[in-house]
Amino acid sequence: MKIVCIGRNYIEHANELKNPIPQKPIFFLKPDTALLIRNRPFFFPDFSNDIHYELELVFKVSKNGKNISEKFAPDYYNEIGLGIDFTARDLQQECKEKGLPWEIAKGFDQSAAISEFIPIESLSDPGNISFHLVMNGQTVQHGKSTDMIFGINIIISYVSSFMTLRAGDLIFTGTPAGVGSVKIGDKLQGYLEGKPMIYCDIK
Ligand code: MG
Repeated sequence: MKIVCIGRNYIEHANELKNPIPQKPIFFLKPDTALLIRNRPFFFPDFSNDIHYELELVFKVSKNGKNISEKFAPDYYNEIGLGIDFTARDLQQECKEKGLPWEIAKGFDQSAAISEFIPIESLSDPGNISFHLVMNGQTVQHGKSTDMIFGINIIISYVSSFMTLRAGDLIFTGTPAGVGSVKIGDKLQGYLEGKPMIYCDIK
């Protein structure tokens, strides 16, 4: 399976990192070895001095497809969860300045923390999904799916025009504003529609 991640998909987050607002979706991949499951702790890696959290809505692809039109995209997913796109912001900044790929900043082990997945139809309003991240008891990020620049159907259509999507692939849809650094001892908890879905201790 692969993990597709959308970058700069919320206007306020693009602004906070001083990035331009994209005209088309921007995506990158993480390998399956990046997965961090079952609320296991995240161990701060020694190659970075600045790891950021990015809480994101994550959709699970439910069947194989390529060149999927926006209209048919809803047939290709039916479950949603939360993920934390852990990012080595210092390495990413270096990569950006040098025009290099982002893998070392985005694809390292444990960089894709995910919750359990639930049926999208179990949500009260699948067209307007809210989520937020609490760090050490304080809310640090708050997002709404309606604030995404590119919605999930556009993302699926766009990504599948370049690469086949397979059942089980995960799509991280980008993070809202409020990203920040973690340090050892921090406790992160992500909520979907007010319900706790993902928990992560930084060790
Ligand atoms: Mg992200």
